[in-house]
Amino acid sequence: MSAIGADELGALIRAMAERVASEREALNRLDAALGDGDHGTSINAAFAEAVAAIDALEQPSPSAVWLATAKALMNRMGGASGAIFGSFFLKGVANLRDIDRVSHNRMAGLLVSGLDSVKARGKARVGDKTMVDALAPAVAAFGAAADFGAAWAAAATAARAGAESTREMTAKLGRAKFLGERAIGHTDPGATTIALMFEAAHDWWKENKA
Ligand code: ADP
Ligand code: MG
Repeated sequence: MSAIGADELGALIRAMAERVASEREALNRLDAALGDGDHGTSINAAFAEAVAAIDALEQPSPSAVWLATAKALMNRMGGASGAIFGSFFLKGVANLRDIDRVSHNRMAGLLVSGLDSVKARGKARVGDKTMVDALAPAVAAFGAAADFGAAWAAAATAARAGAESTREMTAKLGRAKFLGERAIGHTDPGATTIALMFEAAHDWWKENKA
């Protein structure tokens, strides 16, 4: 499978939405330990709105799907983290302009520009105990793979390992930084969401495209 269209991109977003929905309470519990306990609820509401917006598109194109997702995350999640999650998708829209079919290479470039945008907006680096700890290794693994199938698999594994790595970290940013050493032992919820997103994409690919 060398390239995917708007239908497949929409299906990938739907798979991510279903995964964060089923993990909503677990994500809230992670955020209760490190922040204010709302992460599962807010990411779930945002992804549900993204799916509804994609379903309502009259002329689905890859860029329209990505833009609808960006807007839902920005508008529905709110707060600093909504802007950061949203900027990941918003930055990628430019990589999809006037494109009907998305190759693995283009998707890899889109993920890189999304990561750059997240880093620029949130100022987080790997090791700061944020979503960047899962996203950065996932994006690198995706780009290093030869095709979509291998890329989703490698990215999912890397994202989960990155999310797990946050457990032993103290936080330099976000609400968790106020906990100091007490943040150690708790996995970052945003990084866990990134792992769930890539795992959902990988599972969808295995079931539908492999
Ligand atoms: P809020 O902190 O506004 O309640 P959420 O609970 O939805 O937002 O999301 C918290 C997640 O946001 C954290 O687990 C972390 O991964 C991510 N995050 C917080 N600050 C930053 C930042 N500056 N850069 C990147 N990600 C961040
Ligand atoms: Mg929160």
